[in-house]
Amino acid sequence: MNYEFWFAVGSQFLYGPEVLETVETRAREMAAELSGLLPYPLIYKVTAKTNKEITDIVKEANYRSECAGIVTWCHTFSPSKMWINGLASLQKPWCHLATQYNREIPNDEIDMDFMNLNQAAHGDREHGFIGARLRKPRKVIAGYWQDEKVHKRLTDWMRAAVGVAVPREMKVMRFGDNMREVAVTEGDKVEAQRKLGWQVNTWAVGDLVKEMSAVTEEEVDVLYNEYLAQYDVNTDNTAAIRYQAREEIAMKKMLDREGCKAFTNTFQDLYGMEQLPGLATQHLTAQGYGYGGEGDWKVSAMTAILKAMGDGGTGASGFMEDYTYHLAEGQEYSLGAHMLEVCPSLASDKPRIETHHLGIGMNEKDPARLVFEGKAGKAIVVSLIDMGGRLRLIVQDIVAVKPIMPMPNLPVARVMWRAMPDLTTGVECWITAGGAHHTVLSYDVTAEQMRDWARMMDIEFVHITKDSTPEKLEEDLLVKDLVWKFK
Ligand code: MN
Repeated sequence: MNYEFWFAVGSQFLYGPEVLETVETRAREMAAELSGLLPYPLIYKVTAKTNKEITDIVKEANYRSECAGIVTWCHTFSPSKMWINGLASLQKPWCHLATQYNREIPNDEIDMDFMNLNQAAHGDREHGFIGARLRKPRKVIAGYWQDEKVHKRLTDWMRAAVGVAVPREMKVMRFGDNMREVAVTEGDKVEAQRKLGWQVNTWAVGDLVKEMSAVTEEEVDVLYNEYLAQYDVNTDNTAAIRYQAREEIAMKKMLDREGCKAFTNTFQDLYGMEQLPGLATQHLTAQGYGYGGEGDWKVSAMTAILKAMGDGGTGASGFMEDYTYHLAEGQEYSLGAHMLEVCPSLASDKPRIETHHLGIGMNEKDPARLVFEGKAGKAIVVSLIDMGGRLRLIVQDIVAVKPIMPMPNLPVARVMWRAMPDLTTGVECWITAGGAHHTVLSYDVTAEQMRDWARMMDIEFVHITKDSTPEKLEEDLLVKDLVWKFK
């Protein structure tokens, strides 16, 4: 989908045709200039003066799937009762851009005519009131429209809004069910579809095995050569790599046939397969597909969504699992990995293909997988959990580092990080909030974008930052528990 955003500017008839013409000319100019700087086009749609104009544009925005959101601004005063009917029916993400055409107050030129034309400070407050009065979820961005900071914030919001559009088409293919007895990977799929739009359904592992046996050697050759071109090879076990290629081709065929952008599997159910997909899953996730291990469909869909929010729809986000800690004083870190399936978009260097024995699960043969270290830098980890009656999105700020030791016998991709505010307080906060051991780790989606996303999706949002304390968090969670009972 080629997404776009619509620009609607508020005004009224009171000012006369000349002012309205100026407003429109300037709004067109702003939309055109911003379109060149933002990741998605911002299309000027209307200088709104009546209830009908606003209602019409909102109806169209709701209906058009390429419209991922609307941006509004009041160049002049725009009485907000005329916005009520339209905004009340708005189903798309909304950003209120509180800006003005001119940067500075012109000392000599300013008179009452200038004030009447350039009164965003006045108009945007009336516009803000009706947003608050209607309890409409919206993003407010204030600043000069030519400033880089405003472009960056609009960019981030647009990407978050695309993260809202994508789930409406999100289908998750589950090969088998959840890992037996695990709680956090379960959840209400009916509620997830009602709230987030996800369609989560199961296919038999036997169907995949059948699909795999229909893959030709020629098809395997093509993907095998692609692997060799993209990754270093650190194994003589060509058969294992070719087997992963066969798995990837079969999974991709099934996903694409059903329009699925995310999938899960579980090592407990590999009936008829020789290897748990490792390299196959990693290479698929690098192409933008979401993945969750052990049947975790929530983290799988979230991975696909965060990837879509990244540049070009294949951002540096991947499925991650908290494994083990390094608790030496002053060097406290988490070590994250998974059995096999960490996405190479997180890699700091060229991943290498290796084959190793995998004791867990029912692997008859040693699975091929990509081994690498994660990048250093600021990142977030994201967990969506089902609280019973509602979904909670937990985001924690982390700082990833180059792993402080080489760990030569660890046969999987690994990322090392410090959670905020510090490792142990961060762990206390995470555990208090109920965050899962499965997360999406992202280097390019920000916590503010996830907050925007949660607001647009109307789900609970918990953010663990450098300033978090377990006491404050506990109070916040208590208040949220009450609030969400009545929402
Ligand atoms: Mn796992």
